[in-house]
Amino acid sequence: MAPSPRQFAPYALLATCVVGIFALRPGPAPLSPLADETVEALPVPQPALPQIHAFPVTLSLCPTLAVANAPPADAGLHILGYTASATLNGVTLARAPVETACLSSGFGARNGQVHTGLDLYNPDPVSIYAAADGTVREAAFRDDFGNMLVIAHENGVFTRYAHLASMPNLAAGDSVLSGETIGVMGNTAASLIPRHLHYEILTGEWGEQAGSFALTPVDVLGLPGADRTEPGD
Ligand SMILES: [Zn+2]
Repeated sequence: MAPSPRQFAPYALLATCVVGIFALRPGPAPLSPLADETVEALPVPQPALPQIHAFPVTLSLCPTLAVANAPPADAGLHILGYTASATLNGVTLARAPVETACLSSGFGARNGQVHTGLDLYNPDPVSIYAAADGTVREAAFRDDFGNMLVIAHENGVFTRYAHLASMPNLAAGDSVLSGETIGVMGNTAASLIPRHLHYEILTGEWGEQAGSFALTPVDVLGLPGADRTEPGD
């Protein structure tokens, strides 16, 4: 005689309870946190590191231009005693923070005014580099300097880069590394003269009103060298 469904009922109830007990049983206890050094951190996406470029180790007077305030140069127009880097207040700075260029104007009196920096000329739109590690302090278009960037370095040292071909993709507060590309040589607000970088090294207190124009420009070529191997020294 076949068992009736009623005969199975107690077993069915028992089976339900057993399944229920297993279902209610808590899962494995969470692992206690591991010591930091044993935890393998998940990879965090990192922005690509900027490419760092070397600064030119020689600088020549532009052979095809009349160079105002030209420093002494040899017969091949190479500036005598030139070194790639200078120091000011303990900060090492490039004298020519460009891919390649020649000097088209030095520092000093020029046309009844004071030329407050160096003009570094290249007919091609070459890259301009940060002269030292620092933080962008000013990024603006001006009627006199065109697309202009001012970088603050340590110890009250600043650098100015003017006439950039376009406004760099940098804003005040951005960090830059020495040798990092910050722009392209141009002649914005200087369309009557050839493409060049107007470059200044400045020192002093940032002005509340005047900003970088409260600072004192110094002669880039007159600063002592910072290079470990100085020719002739
Ligand atoms: Zn200039």
